[in-house]
Amino acid sequence: MSASPTAGAIEIPNEYPVELTAPDITPYAAGNSGTPYIWSFDSGVPGPHVMISALVHGNEICGAIALDWLLREDVRPVAGRLSLGFINIDAYSRFDPQDPNATRWADEDFNRLWSDEVLTGDRDSSELRRAREIRPFMDSVDILLDIHSMQRPSPPFMMAGMRAKGRDLARQVGVPEIVISDQGHAAGVRLRDYAGFSDPDSPKNAVLIECGQHWEKAAGDLAIESSLRMLRSQGTVSDDFGGDLARGATPKQTFVEVTQAITVQSENDFTFARPFTGGEIIPEKGTLLAHDGGEEILTPYDKCFLVMPSMRLWRGQTAVRLGRILD
Ligand SMILES: [Zn+2]
Repeated sequence: MSASPTAGAIEIPNEYPVELTAPDITPYAAGNSGTPYIWSFDSGVPGPHVMISALVHGNEICGAIALDWLLREDVRPVAGRLSLGFINIDAYSRFDPQDPNATRWADEDFNRLWSDEVLTGDRDSSELRRAREIRPFMDSVDILLDIHSMQRPSPPFMMAGMRAKGRDLARQVGVPEIVISDQGHAAGVRLRDYAGFSDPDSPKNAVLIECGQHWEKAAGDLAIESSLRMLRSQGTVSDDFGGDLARGATPKQTFVEVTQAITVQSENDFTFARPFTGGEIIPEKGTLLAHDGGEEILTPYDKCFLVMPSMRLWRGQTAVRLGRILD
């Protein structure tokens, strides 16, 4: 399955102020890794290859703010290798603060392409060309922090995949408070789940952080904080790198396991029962969540946790994911 060919043409009105400024990343275009917009530094000392990626979705600018900050601070690894990658350049280059939802992707969702079948298939799109371009590089990465943000104002989440190792990595980073174990989307495989990242027998590991609403200042701050905490936790940077930033105590983390994704079945007739924004805990089983065509969607259990209700409500897209809070 893939995104509907009309997907990019559906307009999503923006209800939220754009507080963040999208940085000019054209000075980073050349990269130094042989792959455009990917910067890589080798310490010459044994250690993992840690990568931070931004702009998998072209309108999620907090990640670009974090990478721009790290590069301007001349971040260098003291162990292993450090890479910083700006991913969906084609979409980001069209970012317009007057219409900020329009540039999530150019042709299709970059974060649904990361299966062997799709990457080696004969389909073509702007995103597939970029995915095929960076794939050899991604194969060299051991630990990935992929920085994202969300459509609606919601508490930040760390998306840790279904493996225990993803939850362990989320604990090592220490922020944000809510860690979600999930399988991803029916529409295709995320970069976070690519190859060894989701293989329980591989030492490779990845987490995806959702830093908050796309345009809120706090999302930029958390993108920088989580990057610093990731790099310190892996021993990639010296302990004093980043000065006083991200030195506070880490919160007690809450772990949520996604049990199901609600995928839109109707052509264009899905409506939420309330204006959910994500992070809500619905107390009672059987509470109405949405209508999809003629169908009622009810909560399947008590204390049902809502993960990222979408504004992109057409057939085959994930409308919302439901999770149980783990003790
Ligand atoms: Zn995203």
